[in-house]
Amino acid sequence: MKTGIDRQSKVIVELIKKVANSLNGEYVKIMDFCGTHEHTIVYSGIRSLMPENVELVAGPGCPVCITPAHYVDAVIKLAMDGVRVYTYGDTYLLPGSEPPHSGKPRTLADARALGADVVIVYSLLEAIKHHKKHGGESVFLAVGFETTAPSTASAVVNKLIPEGLTLLNAHRLTPPIMRYTFEKHRHAPIRGVIAPGHVSTIVGAGAWEFVPRDYGIPTVVAGFEALDVLTAIFYILLMLKGGKPKLINQYKRAVKWDGNPTAKRLINECCDVVDASWRGLGIVPMSGLRFRDKYKSIDAVHQYGLRELETREWKYDLPPGCRCAEVTLGLAKPTDCPLFMKTCKPGVPYGPCMVSSEGACSVWARFGGGGLVEEIVKDLGLE
Ligand code: SF4
Repeated sequence: MKTGIDRQSKVIVELIKKVANSLNGEYVKIMDFCGTHEHTIVYSGIRSLMPENVELVAGPGCPVCITPAHYVDAVIKLAMDGVRVYTYGDTYLLPGSEPPHSGKPRTLADARALGADVVIVYSLLEAIKHHKKHGGESVFLAVGFETTAPSTASAVVNKLIPEGLTLLNAHRLTPPIMRYTFEKHRHAPIRGVIAPGHVSTIVGAGAWEFVPRDYGIPTVVAGFEALDVLTAIFYILLMLKGGKPKLINQYKRAVKWDGNPTAKRLINECCDVVDASWRGLGIVPMSGLRFRDKYKSIDAVHQYGLRELETREWKYDLPPGCRCAEVTLGLAKPTDCPLFMKTCKPGVPYGPCMVSSEGACSVWARFGGGGLVEEIVKDLGLE
């Protein structure tokens, strides 16, 4: 049955082809920053609908993928030392820097299998509730971009963190990594950006104004339906054709120009903006959050003296052969990695981009013809 959305999407695809055609074969690389956009693109087969001269590349918008390995190592060590660790479901499976089969825990899941007290939670509030009930000493691994940072900040600023619970702050900021990504694409520049919808509900569409202004790149803040993404691509091509790059907020139903002032105030009250490490990428200036000194009592880094998390301690932290750094920056496709769907699969992730539902490798494996169905058929002997 044809839906209204199907029909609209088809119309937009035709318009995309028309405008792309009028660019005289000029190659256009568009980056979809956010893991959820990549999900929409792969799940809906949008890449296959693009004209030959338009390429969509995934960006660094998966917070689990870029959480440095030494943060994972630190919480594994705390867990093995008897501290209860609260973690989201995807960071539970995120590998640290131990190689597979080393006999040492590589993930929090491994640590739990060895008897450590590791609890999967959906939110910091759930961790607080659990800690209040069970007491003892515990640490919450706070991962995420500007979308999850406000819930951490709100609990800290409103003094909801009970005694004995500390937080390991691994929050990262998205505009600085966008700039960093552009630098890495200098030889084949990005010509358009689909800016992240979720993050923009907090930072506001206006946070991306620097992209057309400083880099001359058309930018569209987009929602997550296939039609939203297609419309964003159409707007970008139209701006390229007209030679007038600007910022368009296509996701007005959720994103305001200034974002969420309360959330931004809470983050600012709770944290300083600092240089921070990104997995596989290194140090990105002013791209991380650190608890302000007045919140030292709930800061796991301070409470446990985690000097190994200092920025200068970062060293290359992807497992041998894993191409996540290039995948994260849109410089390689998941299928360019020789380990994709061989050593590295959604059930047994070898590298970080295969862990989270927002990781490009995971998305491609599950929905992009990465061979997962064929693998399952083979495993079940249904060939
Ligand atoms: S397929 Fe696995 S090993 Fe390869 S880049 Fe992706 S996460 Fe890394």
